[in-house]
Order: sequence, then C-alpha cells, then structure tokens
Amino acid sequence: MSEAPETSQELSEVLEDLRRHLLWQEEDGGRLLQIDARQAAELRGAGMARLRAQTAKAAAPSAAAQPAPAAQPAPAPAARPMPPRAPAVEPERPLSAREPPMARALEAPAQARPSAGPLPGVVEGERPTLDEIRRELGDCQRCKLCSGRKNIVFGSGNPRAELVFVGEGPGADEDAQGVPFVGAAGQLLTKMIEAMGYRRDDVYICNVVKCRPPGNRNPEPDEVTACEPFLRAQLRAVQPKVIVALGKFAAQTLLRDMTPITKMRGNWREYEGIKLMPTFHPAYLLRQPAEKKKAWEDLQQVMKFFGKQPGQRG
Ligand code: URA
Repeated sequence: MSEAPETSQELSEVLEDLRRHLLWQEEDGGRLLQIDARQAAELRGAGMARLRAQTAKAAAPSAAAQPAPAAQPAPAPAARPMPPRAPAVEPERPLSAREPPMARALEAPAQARPSAGPLPGVVEGERPTLDEIRRELGDCQRCKLCSGRKNIVFGSGNPRAELVFVGEGPGADEDAQGVPFVGAAGQLLTKMIEAMGYRRDDVYICNVVKCRPPGNRNPEPDEVTACEPFLRAQLRAVQPKVIVALGKFAAQTLLRDMTPITKMRGNWREYEGIKLMPTFHPAYLLRQPAEKKKAWEDLQQVMKFFGKQPGQRG
C-alpha cells in the first residue's frame, strides 16, 4: 500500500520523461525535416536560377533584332521570377524571404559568387518541376515567334514518363489548341506511340520551340536559342529513360550535331546521360510513307530497350 504513491510518482516521472523525450525527438525530427526541406528548396531555386540565367543569356543577343510584339493583345507583365516550390513541411513564409540564398548567390555575377558547391546531404542537380518551368516561361516574349502565336505549346503527357518525344515546333492545330502533335502529324505520332505499346498519356511530348513559326516555316536559329533552355529544363524535370528525337531539329538541337537526320536516325545516342534515338519526323513520314518502315525499325529499338512487344500495353 505504502508503495503505491511512490510507484505512481515514479510512474508519472517516467511518463513525463518519456513525454519530454518524445517531444524532443519530434522537435528534432521536425527541425531535420525543415532543414531537408529548406535544402531541397534551395536546390530547386538553384535549378531555376540556372534556367533564368540560360534564358537571359539566350535572349540577350537577339533582343536588339527582335521586333516589338505587335499582334500580341496586351503585353503581359514579365513573368514573375519564381520562388522555389515550397515543400509541404516548409512553413509558410513571406514571399520575399522565400528566395533561397543559393538562388540569390547563383544570380549574382560570377566573380561575386561564393563557391556554391553542393549542399551537404543533397544531390546536386535538383531541378525545377514542369509547372515551375511553365510558369517561368510565362507569356513568353523572348523571341519574335511570340507575335504570331495564339497559344504557347509547352508540352503534354506524363510528367514522370520513361519515354519522351521531342518534335520541332507547333503547327496551326497545335497553336490553336495549345497542345503538341494534335494535327495530322500528331495523329500519326499517336498511332506510332500506340503501336509501341503505350498510350499517348503514358509518354511526354514537347517541341524544340514552343510557338508556331509563321506559315510552318522552320524555326530560325535565334528562336531555337531562345527556347532551347526550356526544352532542356523539361527533359531534366521529366528525367525519361529514352528520348525519341523526331526529325532533324530535335536531334540536331539536343545533340548539337549537324549530321543530317538520314544519317543520324536509327543509331542510339546519348543526351545528358539519357539514351536518345533520332528518327524521322511524322510530318516527313506523311510526305514519304515509304520511309515509315525505317522509322518503325528505330522505334522497335526503343521498344527492345524497354522489353516491349508491338501493341503490348504496360
Ligand atoms: N510538328 C511538330 O514538330 N510539333 C508539333 O507539335 C506538331 C507538328
């Protein structure tokens, strides 16, 4: 009986101790999570800063040659520089405080930059998401294609696709709908994708330039230069296992290799560690149906890489 209060006292002490311990663990865990979240945000901000630096650099030489956008209705405000996407565990903070020091550091002139090595415990090369890249693109006025477009055609499909198709640039149908490859060439591409055993939604589809070149002319070098950083950022965001480059613009831009597509096609290449298969553009195949056989052989190599049988889903 006399033991009872003492035991109870001891018990409550033990419980209190345990409670404090758990609280401490929780706090510490939370703190660690916040540190991780902050580091991830900083890194994502660094990726975004890199994209901004690339697009600014790409836009600089052509800016003088660029006509004022006439046909664009109201000149949109410049795309707001984006804060890094805040991870769920990161507490809300005022916008001004959200720009991470790493991003600010990388935006500073190179000579003023502190040595911005990878952050401890974080994988270098964390990248902005497709949504963030799209927001950064904004109502793009970086090249003269903006003056004739109806819609920016950013890309569509699975943001985690193992397979990405890169085309040249939107045509009239794509411009009208804001979706890549929805016209005649797009219908052929959809058939090709399905013949490979995928649904269109399984893969990701985008173009070298995001705005329609007038009269479906080829994109000009300054237009490719202005848009290319966004394509590269998209590929970095999706991280596919294989890229299929449709036609010479996609293959030559990504590989920085001016070899004609007739020579390049059908041979595995590598783009930033990702396997890349150059093949004919579906629009070319519509004009030259006899070449479909070669394109199919190229796609079969891709299927073989993924262990797929024709028409087999999943
Ligand atoms: N051709 C392309 O290269 N891309 C499209 O989105 C449509 C046609």
